[in-house]
Amino acid sequence: MSSIPLKVYITPFAEKGAVEAQKWTTDAAKAALNVVNATWAKADVAFVINDFVMDRPLDMAKSARSRDRDLLDVLSLRHQPENLVHIYLVNPIENLKAGGCSYVDSNPEPASFVQWYGNVDSNGRAWAHELGHLMSLDHVQIDYQNEKQAAALVNNLMTEGLGMGKDLTDKQLGSAKSSKLVKRFSG
Ligand SMILES: [Zn+2]
Repeated sequence: MSSIPLKVYITPFAEKGAVEAQKWTTDAAKAALNVVNATWAKADVAFVINDFVMDRPLDMAKSARSRDRDLLDVLSLRHQPENLVHIYLVNPIENLKAGGCSYVDSNPEPASFVQWYGNVDSNGRAWAHELGHLMSLDHVQIDYQNEKQAAALVNNLMTEGLGMGKDLTDKQLGSAKSSKLVKRFSG
């Protein structure tokens, strides 16, 4: 079992100096992480929270937050890279269909943000999906013309957008296990 350490930042948004109430709490994060670990146990990977940081507010116009790459860059550039994964937990973002954003294959450093969805299972699914990206997985493309393929993938963890499935194929499990991120923290 590989154990991957996380530093979890609970980052409130602000707009023009007015800080918005943050929905994530440390308890909510721990509950979501249980969902994450139930999902990723199949790859013999366990994520462990090393540290919680109540982050300073990020002042950003609401309209700018849905540019997910830019948001992740801003969040991660505020902190030094360390030998662990940085996870930024943020409030819901208008007009952002993805649950969060990650640097695929941990490049330049392992970091993701995860939106708040209001319940443990959705929060955990979004978080597990982002960690899938950090372990080199890309989105699965469902071909709805191909019923058999669609049925096999519709409940996959790596469907794009707001799915609820947490399935992983053997190929995905293999890719995750041999990813740069898992290798970095195993053995
Ligand atoms: Zn994704």
